[in-house]
Amino acid sequence: MSKYIFVVGGVMSGVGKGVASASIGKILQARGYKVTAIKIDPYVNVDAGTMNPTEHGEVFVTEDGDETDQDIGNYERFLNQDIYRANYMTTGRIYESVIHKERNLEYNGKCVEVVPHIPEEIIRRIKKAALKSKADITIIEVGGTVGEYQNILFLEAARMMHLKNPLDVQFIMVSYLPIPGTIGEMKTKPTQYAIRTLNSAGIQPDFILCRSAKPLDEKRRQKLSVFGNVLPQDVISAPDVDSIYEVPINFEKENLSQKIIAKLGLKAKPKKDLGDWKKLVRTAKSVKKEVKIAMVGKYFATGAFILADSYISVIESLKHAAWANKVKPVIEWVNSDEYEKNPAKVKELKNYDGIIVPGGFGSRGIEGKIKAIKYARENNIPYFGLCYGMQLATIEFARNVAKLKDANSTEIKPKTKHPVIHIMEEQVEKLAKKQYGNTMRLGSYPCVLAKKSRSFIAYGKKRIDERHRHRYEFNNAYRDRLTKKGLLLAGLSPDKKLVEIVEIPKHKFFVGVQFHPEFRSRPLNPHPLFVEFIKSAKKHAKGGSASSRK
Ligand code: GLN
Repeated sequence: MSKYIFVVGGVMSGVGKGVASASIGKILQARGYKVTAIKIDPYVNVDAGTMNPTEHGEVFVTEDGDETDQDIGNYERFLNQDIYRANYMTTGRIYESVIHKERNLEYNGKCVEVVPHIPEEIIRRIKKAALKSKADITIIEVGGTVGEYQNILFLEAARMMHLKNPLDVQFIMVSYLPIPGTIGEMKTKPTQYAIRTLNSAGIQPDFILCRSAKPLDEKRRQKLSVFGNVLPQDVISAPDVDSIYEVPINFEKENLSQKIIAKLGLKAKPKKDLGDWKKLVRTAKSVKKEVKIAMVGKYFATGAFILADSYISVIESLKHAAWANKVKPVIEWVNSDEYEKNPAKVKELKNYDGIIVPGGFGSRGIEGKIKAIKYARENNIPYFGLCYGMQLATIEFARNVAKLKDANSTEIKPKTKHPVIHIMEEQVEKLAKKQYGNTMRLGSYPCVLAKKSRSFIAYGKKRIDERHRHRYEFNNAYRDRLTKKGLLLAGLSPDKKLVEIVEIPKHKFFVGVQFHPEFRSRPLNPHPLFVEFIKSAKKHAKGGSASSRK
């Protein structure tokens, strides 16, 4: 029988509920329990795959090809384990299966109603995911903020689970305590209201995690205890930290895992420590030598603000690899649109030790990205292309090295003379029928590396597995023409039909991968290609132009 911890948000979104959930999982895992984590997204979309990243952040892809919320990525990174499709649900997914069951007469002629049938389906899925992963403790993060209409049925499901097994179900509220500039004092009132709102859904939190710019003081702890009906020791301070990986360590400063275990009535296992994790955080804090990486993308702007969430796994992978190389990653965003408006601006890339073009879709900003890749290739700056970044590197090489002037992807220019990247055969019918949801080439596929490739050196083995998310691919009709000019097909699918990695061997580091290595990097298990890329960037910083940038 699994124990269940629901994590809900109070006051506002974006305060790190995902990292808090992952960290709670981490500290319980460090005590020897088998932990899994579930993310609930309240929107009607069946999954995150059809949403623009500026709407929703990164679309994280699981081993089994689910297109999920970026928090699943946090869980994988913190727990250092794979999380599967069963651990992700949305309102759309729940309704879809209830309606499907109703059509199949699975409700035996009953009137199917929002309550109880929707919460019952939610509970069924939560229990199924817990069972599948054989977890002692299942963390369930309920997306959104309490008081929103969207997540009320999920809270209802949580309440029903608690009603049946009060000792096995726990609630943690992650709230936010603002310190308004004009007042200069931490305010508890919004959190008090949030607790009341949660109470009105029939739920009493066991713990309040107080996110704020500063640590919680004793006076406010007492106040929240009284108004929130929670013991003072269960009001947990969760101040801002330099690195998200510090959060589990901070929770343990307040003995959170011990308190959770005691309340769940679990037998205390001999305390394991977070040794490796602490070492990692120490490294992250102590590294001084910088490598400067430019991320050339387009999903950055949200109104007047910059949103780094669209590429969160890439950013985290760069950090993991940098720490493994004992350097400090300095990651800067370059909006590829700008190189289209002002081509000379691309020269600013000389100030970087490495350039990344991450995944993407559609034609906006593409020519700017191709300009950046050309600059990296011609100036021998380490280049790492992820998915679209591999396809665009192929286009750049075809145009400027193999002199196929109009080389392009049919995604960008359907009638191009040289479609060096074209649609995958299996995708043609799906697109013609407008079947966009969860129909890309998704999830983990094997790949065989060429012995003399950079990738082989990085992985240290011939056969690898990586996660994919794409509809277009390298056009095999151009294999000869491009390899003759020096492009190395460094990774192929085992049947040799699909090109998964391209490299330029004479370059310091020029690797483009059709897959998304960023989904497999973990702080305690950095990804070999990212490690190799940062290693080259570090070398470049030493001897290359970036070291003379000042
Ligand atoms: N747009 C490209 C494709 O569909 C690349 C996808 C990606 O970068 N994830 O193949």
